[in-house]
Amino acid sequence: MVKKAAAKSFDVLIIGGGPGGLAIGSLLARDGVKTAIIEKQSAPGGRLRSVDFHGCRVDSAIHFLVSLAGAVERTYTYKMFTELRLPFEYKTVPWPMAKITKEKPGQIEFFTMDPKLGAANFFAFFAFATGVDMDESTRTELTRIATITEDMSEQECRKVVNVSFADWLEKNTQDPMAKAVLQNMGPIIGAPIKDVNFGMVANAFGTFNRVGAPLIWYPKNGTLETAIIAPLAGYFKEHGGKIITKRAVRNVIIERGRAKGVIASDDDNSFMMEEYTAPVVICAMPLFQAVAQNIIKRSTLTKDWAETVKRAADLAIHDLSGFYLLDRDVIPRDGHGWIHMFDTDYGIPTYVGDLCLGTYTNAREVPGKQLVCGLVVGSSEANNFGIPTRMDMVRAGRRKWLAAAEKAYPGFNKAIQYEGMNLQLNFTRYAYAVSPVELDIQSPNIKGLYFAGDSIWSIGTPMSDKCFQIAFPLRERVLQYLRA
Ligand SMILES: Cc1cc2nc3c(=O)[nH]c(=O)nc-3n(C[C@H](O)[C@H](O)[C@H](O)COP(=O)(O)OP(=O)(O)OC[C@H]3O[C@@H](n4cnc5c(N)ncnc54)[C@H](O)[C@@H]3O)c2cc1C
Repeated sequence: MVKKAAAKSFDVLIIGGGPGGLAIGSLLARDGVKTAIIEKQSAPGGRLRSVDFHGCRVDSAIHFLVSLAGAVERTYTYKMFTELRLPFEYKTVPWPMAKITKEKPGQIEFFTMDPKLGAANFFAFFAFATGVDMDESTRTELTRIATITEDMSEQECRKVVNVSFADWLEKNTQDPMAKAVLQNMGPIIGAPIKDVNFGMVANAFGTFNRVGAPLIWYPKNGTLETAIIAPLAGYFKEHGGKIITKRAVRNVIIERGRAKGVIASDDDNSFMMEEYTAPVVICAMPLFQAVAQNIIKRSTLTKDWAETVKRAADLAIHDLSGFYLLDRDVIPRDGHGWIHMFDTDYGIPTYVGDLCLGTYTNAREVPGKQLVCGLVVGSSEANNFGIPTRMDMVRAGRRKWLAAAEKAYPGFNKAIQYEGMNLQLNFTRYAYAVSPVELDIQSPNIKGLYFAGDSIWSIGTPMSDKCFQIAFPLRERVLQYLRA
């Protein structure tokens, strides 16, 4: 049964109240556009929500704000907060990589990117991770290729998204070592090498040379929920926006090639439907999920788009974060608070996940205890090496991560008082993964249907910063459409 209730007519309806939905919602509300966000959960925030864990309050996924910009002021998150005149105090965070061995427990070898080094960072990292120094001819060859990508703009990168990087490499380099190093760029870009295209490599590699190392930052106070989500949601509501929670959109209404609104229910399985109408619908939940759940019909996508959406869905598999409450401080708080761990016990040093102290992400911690979070490989990272995620892989990933944590900080496992695992769909990877075709923020064949969030562009800035990047041009397009 579909019920049409009063006051459910808007100019713009946004599906999903994650950072993507809140960002575009805030810009439109400021312009006086009558906007509503429909959010399935009881509160907005999406993957930037916090969770309670045995007296701690922590990001539901362990996050740092990552950007390919050289300075925080050039990130889109920062630009959005400045544009809306919302305060944003931040700290930058170093990104150390730690190599650990069985032979020397507790003796970690560290490597940290040095932005001043540019492409040379890459050579140093290669030597650290493999233990093999590059010879001069390989360095020269890699520098030559890095230079080709260095000056490509985002627009130029978009033009070559269809050119297979593997094919390009075959034609453009003879040096076997240089080829091997570049083939291993796949996981860095977010997809297996066979799926990587030249546009994405040029986008990431080129920026890498320019800025020297990815920028990692985090709010100075509070978690992402209190520092990003709460101010945006507050701004949106103060400017007349409406957040309708506990409503799951089931269907985008399309009539004669135009979006007309959405049908929502009070939970995923309910038969009680409500209709909300608007000439503009913005899908700010991951597009491939919307298609998989038939919220947007596959038949309304062009062939190219359908293929791209499927490719993104293939990459968006379960990822694992682990939460550990230790009964005492095992990891020195004044040392590295967030590290990328490489374990040498698997032949060449193998990335087993991240280890991050709750103090680093401003989590609320229980006094006298230590909160440690982990991003555990065995799931999406493994997919980059062509291995699908299965529960046994997830369990193996967890075992490897725990073994590495114990080697790095002896006594870790014994000190665990509580362990929590958070298996959630949509890890960062697809957010900067490679699409065979670059999607646009506007549907190619449905008028009034737009897209926001991190599941659209593969070129540009990675992960959650993309939500803010997309919001600026999206605002222009939506206003133009409404005026017309
Ligand atoms: C483990 C993990 C680690 C990450 N680490 C980082 C990091 O270090 N740095 C970084 O920048 N990013 C990171 N990310 C990515 C970041 O979380 C995303 O880029 C960001 O949350 C995307 O925002 P979004 O608004 O597009 O989507 P989401 O945050 O997913 O929000 C979508 C919203 O839509 C709602 N929704 C879904 N279906 C419906 C429906 N049918 N009807 C109504 N509402 C619906 C959801 O409930 C959700 O609130 C990480 C993600 C994960 C999972």
